[in-house]
Amino acid sequence: MQSKLNLPAPDWHSAAKSLRIDGRAVIAGQRRAAQSGQSFDSVSPIDGRNLAPVARGQAADIDAAVASCRQAFDDGRWAHQAPAARKKVLLRFAQNILAARDELALLETLDMGKPIRYSLSVDVAATARCIAWYAEAVDKVYDEIAPTSRSALALIQREPMGVIGAIVPWNYPMIMAAWKLGPALAAGNSVMLKPSEKSPLTALRLAELALDAGLPEGVFNVVPGYGHEAGEALALHLDVDAIGFTGSTRVGRKMLEYAGRSNLKRVYNELGGKSAFVVFSDFADVKRAAVTVAGSMFFNQGESCNAPSRVFVQRDIADDFVKLVTAEAAKYEPGDPLNAGTEMGAIVDQTQLTTVLGYIEAGRVEGARLACGGAQARADTGGCYVQPTVFDGVTNTMRIAREEIFGPVMSVLRFDTEDEAVALANASSYGLQASVWSDNLNRAHRVARRLRAGTVHVNQYDEDDITVPFGGYKQSGNGRDKSLHAFDKYTELKTTWIRID
Ligand code: NAD
Repeated sequence: MQSKLNLPAPDWHSAAKSLRIDGRAVIAGQRRAAQSGQSFDSVSPIDGRNLAPVARGQAADIDAAVASCRQAFDDGRWAHQAPAARKKVLLRFAQNILAARDELALLETLDMGKPIRYSLSVDVAATARCIAWYAEAVDKVYDEIAPTSRSALALIQREPMGVIGAIVPWNYPMIMAAWKLGPALAAGNSVMLKPSEKSPLTALRLAELALDAGLPEGVFNVVPGYGHEAGEALALHLDVDAIGFTGSTRVGRKMLEYAGRSNLKRVYNELGGKSAFVVFSDFADVKRAAVTVAGSMFFNQGESCNAPSRVFVQRDIADDFVKLVTAEAAKYEPGDPLNAGTEMGAIVDQTQLTTVLGYIEAGRVEGARLACGGAQARADTGGCYVQPTVFDGVTNTMRIAREEIFGPVMSVLRFDTEDEAVALANASSYGLQASVWSDNLNRAHRVARRLRAGTVHVNQYDEDDITVPFGGYKQSGNGRDKSLHAFDKYTELKTTWIRID
């Protein structure tokens, strides 16, 4: 299939007008409407425009898609191919993603509101790299032979698990899907992907691009739909072997319940965060810390699980730091996501906009000082926008410090001693990421070790790569996406004993 868009961009507004969007599910290599005939509207948060009807997948559609995944797995059309053969197909898939980069980026921006420049440079690029990286990896990982006695041979092998249900959120729709698809498909599994109802469009195109690359029919199906319908049916399904879930801690809890109520399928949860950014006054380049925290917090409209939303600053530099951060925040005023220069785009939908504004109100009511922002923006567009917002004088008991907001709202908290900083930073039910800023080598290492988070950054927050694991401590989840460790989630470990006479 060819990309359905005639570009050259970058006139993204006209490109958007000529885009033809197909919201039907992809099952067994075919586009299919929901069996009930129902659909829901995909509405753009950029200006409230209606993008396309999307199939409202329910239990019957999930049954059909899982049956197709199961058949594909059982007859070995993918799982039995040599790793080098799977590599070839997945590398073509990655190339197809890059070839369709303008179309995919436009769909992502229209669907969930992020700036087109980042859909292109971050989302499409990282999605293709992720698929290619696992493709390249899969024919380079070896199994093991145990050091047993001479009368036996014990092989320890990784085998594909079977049918993987992937349920993903709306903040990085393609990347989150790729973090599941890359390792799961490379290992030989079939995948049934349920994208968020708020951002289903790119997932559907990814399935077509995979088919074009030669992925056999049924190995990768996509059924869009609501969480309580399609998502629940998938997570309860008796023929699904594992769920790779990324989303809120609230729904992650349900995933564990669904597994308990059904077939004890494996559940890998990648959940929310409230990441701490700890700045000591012995760090000389305060401006760099302020620029970094603003960039990381306001990137993707603050809709990042690892956004450094709790900023702990040592008291003697806190006033200066807040001035620097608010000056930086001004650079992230929301703009039209389809303009190539826009840094911050639209919040995903009206519901999330209301949630974010509700938290801003809660911060005010609980006594935090608004240092900048605090209001809706660009309301005349009919879209969903919020000013970059910084609260000073926040305490750890306030809701804005405890709960994940998932919008462009930063809380600044002050501390005096190292012990206090560590205690405050760790006093959270989340543990996704953290960062420590200090020019004292001993302190930097000491605090990095004491922070309870899956990733700790020292004197930076920007580094990221497919080669390192991503995931959280505590209620930020279990399991890890990315890196070779992700293969653990989608493979079973088998021991085979062979007698040697
Ligand atoms: P969400 O939990 O509301 O939804 C996530 C997915 O689950 C969606 O596809 C949704 O349709 C589905 N779902 C919702 N209710 C369901 C149910 N009852 N049964 C089955 N499926 C259901 O999360 P969201 O609002 O889409 O995404 C934001 C959350 O994702 C934030 O908490 C964010 O921190 C988290 N997130 C985490 C990571 C990570 O790697 N740890 C990455 C990105 C986002």
